[in-house]
Amino acid sequence: MTDIVVLGSTNMDLVAYVEKAPQRGETVTGREFRTVPGGKGANQAIAAAHAGGTVSMIGAIGNDSFGARLRSALEHSGVNTDHLRTVEFPSGTAHIVVDDEGGNAIVVVPGANGTVDHLAPGDEGLIASADALLLQLEVPLPAVVAGARAARGHGVRTILTPAPARPLPPELLAATDLLVPNEHEAAALTGRTDPREAAIALLDAVPEVVITLGAAGSLYATRGAELLTVPAPHVTAVDSTGAGDTFVGALAVALGENRPVREALTWAAAAAALSVQRPGASASMPYRSEIDKQYA
Ligand code: ATP
Repeated sequence: MTDIVVLGSTNMDLVAYVEKAPQRGETVTGREFRTVPGGKGANQAIAAAHAGGTVSMIGAIGNDSFGARLRSALEHSGVNTDHLRTVEFPSGTAHIVVDDEGGNAIVVVPGANGTVDHLAPGDEGLIASADALLLQLEVPLPAVVAGARAARGHGVRTILTPAPARPLPPELLAATDLLVPNEHEAAALTGRTDPREAAIALLDAVPEVVITLGAAGSLYATRGAELLTVPAPHVTAVDSTGAGDTFVGALAVALGENRPVREALTWAAAAAALSVQRPGASASMPYRSEIDKQYA
């Protein structure tokens, strides 16, 4: 089994469905409201656990009802939460308004996630025992950098999703083995809108890059080899929320099993294709047996 540690965010997504999003000063009546466990860190942890990894999460939740629900959602998916701290801040929340055209507007309040700005005692030991450390940018950068450095120091593969897009400090890139931006993040990082050009540019900073391309699949680049394009299965997407996190979670599991890169990417694409056919983020993340069936 692949041992994976995720260092990142846990949020409660508060989703209001409306015909049309309100303008400034306006009040509109919504049709439906849902609370859904989310945060890129927690989503990747759940995706990797469903895909068959042994997963632990480093992060923080608030001492409130959202925090309790976030912890139990992770545990329900088999994620070890011993290193998920409960702190005296509100749990992180994402306030999401989805309109009838499928457009959305989102306010993220980091709350407890903002306290994840360092490694706590025991975190480094946990990272050292893993096959891979998954990182994103929804907790403060000092913790992301410290996690990446700890992993690098112990020979653990670091996989970084650079979302939300922001400039990456050189010390973080220097400790990253595999960078997995979507095409917009890749463009923001490199100033190049052509994903092939962006992938090649990113190889100056990290040894391996996967750019996810939505329904068009993914592009893999490593130094000294041809670019590799891996298609996504043709499916009818109903909700692509969390597709990227599902892809990364499954990819980390497959790479940890030493499967060849093309096979690992194809398997991750199968996982993500299953997730986009179902509503929700973490709730839509497929289990290993389902991924194997889609992959076959
Ligand atoms: P999100 O922010 O919605 O989680 P993302 O923008 O990070 O996603 P994408 O590039 O949109 O990432 O999607 C990640 C992967 O999910 C793709 O590489 C692909 O394998 C799969 N995927 C996404 N959309 C589709 C789709 N419509 N059909 C099939 N596969 C899809």
